[in-house]
Amino acid sequence: MKVKQQLQQLKPYQPGKPIEEVKREYGLETVIKLASNENPYGCSPLVHDAIISELDHLALYPDGYSRSLREALAVHLGVEGKQLIFGNGSDEVVQIICRAFLQKGMNTVMATPTFPQYRHNAIIEGAEVREIPLRDGHHHLEAMLEAIDDNTRVVWICSPNNPTGTYVNDASLRSFLANVPKHVLVVIDEAYYEYVQAEDYPNTVALLQQYENIMILRTFSKAYGLAALRIGYGVAHEHVLRAIEPAREPFNTSRLAQVAALAALNDQPFIQQCVQKNKQGLNQFYSFCDQHGLRYYKSEGNFILIDFGFSGDEVFTYLLQRGIIVRSGCALGFPTAVRITVGSTEQNEIIIHALTNMLKERRERFCGETF
Ligand SMILES: *Cc1c(COP(=O)(O)O)cnc(C)c1O
Repeated sequence: MKVKQQLQQLKPYQPGKPIEEVKREYGLETVIKLASNENPYGCSPLVHDAIISELDHLALYPDGYSRSLREALAVHLGVEGKQLIFGNGSDEVVQIICRAFLQKGMNTVMATPTFPQYRHNAIIEGAEVREIPLRDGHHHLEAMLEAIDDNTRVVWICSPNNPTGTYVNDASLRSFLANVPKHVLVVIDEAYYEYVQAEDYPNTVALLQQYENIMILRTFSKAYGLAALRIGYGVAHEHVLRAIEPAREPFNTSRLAQVAALAALNDQPFIQQCVQKNKQGLNQFYSFCDQHGLRYYKSEGNFILIDFGFSGDEVFTYLLQRGIIVRSGCALGFPTAVRITVGSTEQNEIIIHALTNMLKERRERFCGETF
């Protein structure tokens, strides 16, 4: 048998170690997972009741059009219901876009390092991937523009960018869009939208009135705390979505996901509380970094990329042995960094305490004595 040639150059996604496995392996009672940018406060309590009521209907297929959720989300965003497409996580919307737009002979432009699923799905479709290195941790939009040609079909902007936490500001995005040819779809992945604090962060939904060739991606997995249920969405022009709709599986989001997302959407005070605590959590990490002279990018998401100046794998292993799971930068294109999800105040204190000890132990090892 022979699978598609493109698959041979891809590695399967390496998921982080599950909490239970880390407990067993290191004989630990408590393990903190701050590796996948999940919400440390879970989801809105309203979600639980919504799911319990839905349990009576598990024999029935879900509404393939997600009518109730679609109507509520359209009102929430100020768009038409027809301007929304739902996916089994926004991951699946990325997949649908690639299925619909990309094939051999076409190319797609993205930053690097960025969220890996754009590249992964583009390669499966046989498209050429043009990766433009970040400049100072930010999308290099001028270089991305230069990489666009007649065969470019999709450009990806991840803002806030995973794993740096940096964003594309309103003025930069506008001048970029003004220069992108009309035959190119610009996908703006805003998975961390709810967490953003920057005043000059663009209102991309409003930009849909000016540009037909953009699609905004958001998700219920991060601030809404529903990562387990897999539901995300795209916002775009109606005719764009009508054109790509055949590439979507008819029942791609489950009943539980739809009712949970609807309940979560209706609890905006919960989101506001999480966003507030996330802001305080980021400040805990900023002061730790400043105290120790560690470099980091100011983050608009619920995670922070910290440069330790030595192998990210070493930091990862040190923390893992102490029951804290983070993401090593080695797999993310930043070999001397780790990406840490902002946890609860207490979780942040625990990890900062461990990191402080790690730095102290290293200093002692290298200097032979403490000062
Ligand atoms: C987490 C994440 C997603 C995917 O989220 P889903 O769980 O598939 O909705 C998409 N983009 C970025 C940048 C992310 O970090």
